[in-house]
Amino acid sequence: MDSIDTRTLQALDAAHHLHPFNDNAALAKKGTRILTKGEGCYVWDAEGNKLLDAFAGLWCVNVGYGRKELGEVASRQMTQLAYYNSFFGCTTEPTVHLAAKLAELTPHDLNHAFFTNSGSEANDTILRLVRHFWAVQDQPHKNIFIGRHNGYHGSTVAGASLGGMKGMHKQGGLPIPDIHHIDPPFWFGDGGEMGEEEYGLHCAKRLEDKILELGPDRVAAFIGEPIMGAIGVYIPPRNYWKEIERICRKYDVLLVADEVICGFGRTGEWFASQYYDFRPDVMTLAKGITSGYIPLGAVMFNDRVADVLATKGGELAHGYTYSGHPVCAAVALENIRILQDERIVETCKADTGPYLAEKWKALGEHPLVGEARIAGMVGALELVPRKPAREFFPDRGRVGQLCRDVALRNGLILRATNDSMLLSPPLVITRAQVDELAEKAWKSLDMTAKELG
Ligand code: PLP
Repeated sequence: MDSIDTRTLQALDAAHHLHPFNDNAALAKKGTRILTKGEGCYVWDAEGNKLLDAFAGLWCVNVGYGRKELGEVASRQMTQLAYYNSFFGCTTEPTVHLAAKLAELTPHDLNHAFFTNSGSEANDTILRLVRHFWAVQDQPHKNIFIGRHNGYHGSTVAGASLGGMKGMHKQGGLPIPDIHHIDPPFWFGDGGEMGEEEYGLHCAKRLEDKILELGPDRVAAFIGEPIMGAIGVYIPPRNYWKEIERICRKYDVLLVADEVICGFGRTGEWFASQYYDFRPDVMTLAKGITSGYIPLGAVMFNDRVADVLATKGGELAHGYTYSGHPVCAAVALENIRILQDERIVETCKADTGPYLAEKWKALGEHPLVGEARIAGMVGALELVPRKPAREFFPDRGRVGQLCRDVALRNGLILRATNDSMLLSPPLVITRAQVDELAEKAWKSLDMTAKELG
C-alpha cells in the first residue's frame, strides 16, 4: 500500500472512527498508525515499517502472529456450523470440548466455564453470578465487591467499576454502588524501607481491614489481577496472594483471580494463581485463550460456586448471543493445542523467560531506569528523574510517551503507562529476538535521555 493510500485511510479513520482509550482530536491531527501484517513476533505498518511487537498486540498474541492453523480451523468451523447458541438447552461440539479442556487446564476445582466475548463481559458475569450465589443462599446483603485502586477489569459498567481507574470512573458516573477499593501492592511507589515479606503482609492486611470495616457478612468477593497489568505491571511480593487467600477464607469471601493478562502462560506457568500458589474460587479468562485471533472470554467457577448456581440458582438470567460461539471455541481449542504441543509455556519457564529476565534486568542499569521488574514474560521499566531515589517525574506520563514514540522509531513496540514502559511479548519470542528487543530498548532509553537533555 503506498503512502497516498495510507493518508486516505487516515483521513477516513479520523472522520469516522472513534478510537478507544485515545484522545481522538489529537489522534486525528497525528494520524493513526495502520497495521497491515503480522508474522511471529513482528508486525508491519502501512508505511512498510517492520516492528518488533514487545507487547503482543494488547497482552494477547501469545502464540505469535500468522498462525495458519488458527485461520484454517476457523474457516472449517464457519463452513460446517458458523453459529449456534447455548441458550434453550442447546450447544455445539467445540463449545463442549472447550469447557472440558478449560476444566482440565485450570488448577484445582475450577471445573465450570461460562463463556463471554471479552474479559470485560466476563467480569460483569462474575459480578452478577457471585451476587446471585450469595442471594440464593439467603444472604442477599452479602453483595459488596472489593477491588483495588488502579486495578483494571475492563471497560463495561461493572468491569470499570470493579477496576480502580479514576479516569474511567469520572466518565459515566462510576463506580456503581457496593464496590470498594483498597490500595494495591506497588513496592516502588510505596514500599518504603519494608522488605518483600513485610510489605506483602502489609498490603494484604489492607483487605482484612476493609472487610472488617464493611462487615464480613456484607462482602461477597475480592477481585484482583495476580499481576496488575494496565497500571504498570505491578508484581506483588511472593507472599501477598497466599495471605489474601487466607483472609478470604477466614471471612468466607470469594476470591476472584482476573487472569485475563496472566492466563495461558504469561508468567511461565499456565495461570498466575499457580505462579503465586493460591486457589481462586472464580477465574476470569480472555486474551491468551485465543491468542487474540478471535474475541472470547470465559469465567471459570469452582465446584462450590457452580453447584449452588446449578442446584439453587434456578434459570440463570444472564448470557450473550455469542456465549460459547462455536468458531471462537474451535480457535481457542486449536490455540491451546499449539501452546501444549509446542511446549510454549514450558519453554518460557525454563529457557526464554529467564533469558528475557536477565536482559530486562540489565536495562535497570540505564541511568533513566529506576526499577526493572519482570515475572515470566511480563515486565516494566520505571523511568525516573534520578537514581537511586524511588521518585517520579513531576509531569507523569510525558517521558513514558516520549520513550514509547522513540522506541517505535527504532522498530520496537512497548506500551507506556505513566512513565512505566511495559513489556509483554508473544510467548514464542526467541533468544535472538530477546537480544534485538534489549538492544532496541537500550538505544531508545539513550535517545529518550538525550531528548530530555
Ligand atoms: N481484565 C484485565 C486484567 C485486563 O487487562 C483486561 C483488558 O486489558 C480486561 C479485564 C478486559 O478485557 P477486554 O478488553 O477483553 O474486555
